Amino acid sequence: MSDSQSGNPAGEIEALAAMFGRWLDGYQSGVSAMPVRSEVRPGEVMGKLPQAAPEAGFKGGDEGAGWAAVLKDLDEIVMPGLTHWQHPRFFAYFPANASVPAMMGELVSAGLGVQGMLWLTSPACTEIETRVVDWLREMLGLPECFDSRNGAGGGVIQGTASEATLTAMVAARDRVRRWKKKTGGVEGRCVVYTSGQAHSSVMKAAMIAGIADGPEDTVHVRMIEVDEVFALRPERLAAAMREDLAAGLVPCFVCASVGTTGTTAVDPTAKIAGVIADVCGGEGKGVPVWLHVDAAHAGSACVAPEFRWMLEGVEKADSFCFNPHKWLLTNFDCDCFYVRDRRHLIDAMSVTPEYLRNTASDSGEVIDYRDWQVPLGRRFRALKLWFVIRAYGVSGLREHVRRTVGLAALFESLVRSDGRFELVAPRVVNLVCFRLKGSDAANKALMERLNATGRVFLSHTMLPSPPAAADARYTIRVAVGTPTTSEADIRELWAMVREHAGTAV
Ligand code: PLP
Repeated sequence: MSDSQSGNPAGEIEALAAMFGRWLDGYQSGVSAMPVRSEVRPGEVMGKLPQAAPEAGFKGGDEGAGWAAVLKDLDEIVMPGLTHWQHPRFFAYFPANASVPAMMGELVSAGLGVQGMLWLTSPACTEIETRVVDWLREMLGLPECFDSRNGAGGGVIQGTASEATLTAMVAARDRVRRWKKKTGGVEGRCVVYTSGQAHSSVMKAAMIAGIADGPEDTVHVRMIEVDEVFALRPERLAAAMREDLAAGLVPCFVCASVGTTGTTAVDPTAKIAGVIADVCGGEGKGVPVWLHVDAAHAGSACVAPEFRWMLEGVEKADSFCFNPHKWLLTNFDCDCFYVRDRRHLIDAMSVTPEYLRNTASDSGEVIDYRDWQVPLGRRFRALKLWFVIRAYGVSGLREHVRRTVGLAALFESLVRSDGRFELVAPRVVNLVCFRLKGSDAANKALMERLNATGRVFLSHTMLPSPPAAADARYTIRVAVGTPTTSEADIRELWAMVREHAGTAV
């Protein structure tokens, strides 16, 4: 290896960051003219790459030509294979947006190359994270029990909401195991409860945690019926728990959704907590059931006080999570996960081999976030959140939420204005669920035609109507969250929906 390969020549980062920054500026300003959804065939991107890695790199050689070739490949190989999540007419799934402050936080984090598994391995990585998640706790109006300044609680950044749910479930399983240890244990008897509209990550977590035998296991994961607005029915939860207790099973974990994936329905957390207390605390003789609140998408809305009604009862939960990487201008990955009592995470997940031992950890004065998550290592993800909050301020983020909710409300009013369409679920925040009055095939054809234009990208779900009915109906979802989406984009989408509805029969 030559000298120039082993170290970075002065000015290299600046020059390359400027070059890739120009490329990204060009991408951002040009993305609205690109087809939103990639149209490549399976294997097409891979087919443009050599079968084997290059033996000789360009570092230390003709670097100018080497980087120019990389840029060319970004344009010719990567670009056609992208579905553009930053496109103003990306309305599929839920948003995942990157803002410039977040990108800079990510860049600095990559450049610093810090691994924050222990407080010792970079105190700033831990302490900035603790402070920033506490800020967010306050920004959303979450209860103080989740604040690190308030005794046992605290927050941590996980990669995703799925990891947060898994982590919470592992802590819950550990807590109930310890509780039952003297009286025969809980092996094979733990039960998880969530609504039939909850995200699949709840089932996945139960499978990984060894609670569910597989995705069809309805004994250990009870999908509770929902009401007419797709929210969990607490009385059905109570009945399921009673049935399970009578059968010798052990209720262990309840996941309430604040904003389901299908429709952003909000489960009644306060009533769910009441059911747990009544059924498992009283009749169940103190079974310690963990209540987790999954607010992956909709939680971000709570930066605006008018949406905080969704949090009613969250003060009774053991944990709560939401994803700034969905709707809060912070690029993937970033999930904020809060617990009422960090001890349960540490009891369930802390293993300390000699090589990780250090005086700071032994002092008990510091947080070692490795004990609050599944992996050992962790990136300096707090930097991007810190940059975002500093750049936009609380008011800027509130404005982003309100503006995109307003655009969704506009789309909802346009759907209402045309008798050929119906709204399938109430709009809670920035998601509109609608369908053409007609067959599933017509709705599927409509969405496929819209997506094939390349001008917009929408996704769908199947929703029962009424919610308890067995037959689910094809429903088109429009989620509005991209900061560059304008009223003109919404009106263009609507014009396209009307135009293509005529041919989608
Ligand atoms: N929970 C809900 C309610 C979601 O809508 C989603 C994704 O859309 C998830 C969990 C999973 O999110 P993640 O990709 O962060 O695991």
